[in-house]
This record gives sequence, structure tokens and C-alpha cells, in this order.
Amino acid sequence: MLRSSIQPRSHSTPGAAAARALESTDGRTEVIGWDMAYARLIAGRGVASSERKLAIPILRFAAVLSAYVTSVAILVAGNIYLTVAAVPVAGILIVMLFVIGHDACHQSFTRSRWVNNVIGRIAFLPALHAYSLWEHEHNRRHHGFNNIRNLDYAWIPLSPREFRNAGVIDRLKYRVYRDPGGVLLYYLIEIWPRRKIIPRNKFLGRVRAVHWVDSALVLSFLAVCLTILAVAGPRFGKSVAEVWLVGALLPFLIFSALFSAAIYLHHTHYDVPWYDSIEQWKKGNGSVLGTVHVEFPWIVRVASFNIMEHNAHHLAPTTPHYHLAAAQKDAIVEGVVVWTFTMRGYFDVCARCKLFDYEAARWLDFHEQPTGGKPAMATHGH
Ligand SMILES: [Zn+2]
Repeated sequence: MLRSSIQPRSHSTPGAAAARALESTDGRTEVIGWDMAYARLIAGRGVASSERKLAIPILRFAAVLSAYVTSVAILVAGNIYLTVAAVPVAGILIVMLFVIGHDACHQSFTRSRWVNNVIGRIAFLPALHAYSLWEHEHNRRHHGFNNIRNLDYAWIPLSPREFRNAGVIDRLKYRVYRDPGGVLLYYLIEIWPRRKIIPRNKFLGRVRAVHWVDSALVLSFLAVCLTILAVAGPRFGKSVAEVWLVGALLPFLIFSALFSAAIYLHHTHYDVPWYDSIEQWKKGNGSVLGTVHVEFPWIVRVASFNIMEHNAHHLAPTTPHYHLAAAQKDAIVEGVVVWTFTMRGYFDVCARCKLFDYEAARWLDFHEQPTGGKPAMATHGH
């Protein structure tokens, strides 16, 4: 199969657990069974992959945090040209801090547990995420049950029947979110306000004291930041509304849009299935085959701390980001979908991933026509 920007390099029989080596079509990547990849990651390269540093990641975190604070200072004090340039930079720096927080929460950022817990809490603040809420939802729910309907919690596709039975507003929202532009709005509206700031028994099972402490930390941070901006802005000739807009709201919106698209791309592709039950997911090796590897240019990989090397991350979530690129080579297992990001490819994925037929394990468009390049039938044992 030729490598192209749209067609994924995917390999059939994703349910096959037997480890067997295959040569990939471009000769660059060895494609093996997922259990062999996992064994290798743990036993071979995995030893290096799981080795966590201390000083370098702390310095990296300090550098990104300093850059973020500087960008906000420029947004407060700078002229219009500096402001226009600094808004997207501040948004991207919130993403970078968030990825650091994500790794810290997996205890993969440094080798010190308490350093991870401190850095993670601070790194999540500009993104307005409560650390322990994220730990519960992401580490346990998402990593434990990715792509399983009703157990995972983001970007779950509706079945045709669910879509038909949904109310007019819900159907309209669903259509918007599954559009290339609407993808950017989903996390901001459906996930973040409901699940990432205020603890709720509904999502956590039992709200604990740490959830409230982390929630209070985020809300206090927000109050302090808005106060500082409101005091500092007028000194540089900016109104409170203006300085809140450019110093807080716009960078946050950029973060949330980029993050929404990232988690969409991590688990949505017309050749990547969703599952109805844990049994189907286990049989189909869904923890890895439910993830997509979207290849981005070098600069994006560096700036995002390899967050898009997602198969390796699901195969071994404690792999530090500085070892993920190497670990990803072992995560290209039989059945994994890999594609190189282009806008055309992104539009194609959005156009083809509308509804999911959980019986037949395949993606459909809104006319309920199959759209998958290669249905992941083998993920179902019947
Ligand atoms: Zn994760």
C-alpha cells in the first residue's frame, strides 16, 4: 500500500493477538502483533522508555511556565501588534503546560511522585483543569476503557438509532461537533465545564476531599489572575474587559480548540472502531487499536511534547514524553492506523466519521451509509 496523506497505513486482522513480524510497506517500520510490541516495550526498549529523569523535565517545565507568564505580561503591556502575535503564543503555551500536566498526572514526567503532583497541579492551572478530576477521568476512565461507549467519555459516536431518537437540539449540536470547524468547540462546551472544574458524584462515583481542594485551587487561580489583569491592564491603557479578553479568554479558547481537535484525532478515524462492551474491546485489542497515530511535522511534535504519539502512550501510559518517539516505533502494531496530517485528510476523517454502527463495527455518514475504508469487523468475535 502506498503511503499517502489520506489513506492510512493500516493492517488488517486487528484482532490477531499472535505476534508475528511483518515488513511495512515503506520498509521503515516493522509491524508486529500488539502483544509482542507490549512485551518489547516493557522488556527491551521499554527499560529505557520507562526511565524517568528529574532535573531536565523540571527545567523544561520552568522554561515553559516562564514563557507563558511572559506572554501574558506582553498581552497586558504590549501594543496591538505584540498582542496579536502573543495571543496564539499564549494559547500554545497553555497547551504545552497542559501536556506536561498530563504526563505528570501519569507519573511519567519526572521520577519523583511528589514533584509530579506539584508540577501537574501548577501546569493544569492556565487550562483551568482540576488535577485529581483529570486523574480520575483520564487515567482511570479513558485509559482504562478508551473507545468503549458509556465508559470512555469524550467523542463517543452515536449509533444511527441513538441519533434518530435524539432531540432536535442534540442532533444539531452533534452535527456541528462532527464538522471540521465544530470539532474545535466540542471540548469547551461538552466536556470541560461539566467534568474538569467542579467535582460531581455522577462522574466520580464518590467525591473526595482532594477533588474539592483541586477545584478550589483552580477557581482561586482564576480569581487571582483576573484580579491581577484588572489591576494591571488600566496602567497600560487597557480596559478591564480588553485585558481579560486578550490576557485570559482568547488564549484559553485557543487551548481548548487545539485540545478538542487533538483528542478527536487521537481516537477517531474511519478505520478505527468503537466498542459496545469491555469484552469486544479486549478481544479487539482496543487499548491500542482504538488509537490513531497522526503524524505531524517535527516542530509540532516538539512543541506538543509528542502528545500525538498516541499508540505508544496507550500501550504504556507511564512512558515519559521524551521517550515516546522511540516507544512509538514499538507501538506500530498490526492493525494500527497511521496517517500524516493534512487539512484534506482531516476534512476526509470528519466527513466519514459521523455515526457508528456498533453491531457491524463500522463508521457511517448521516445517510447511514458505511464510510470506513476497511471496517474493523475482526474486532468483534461474531
Ligand atoms: Zn493519557
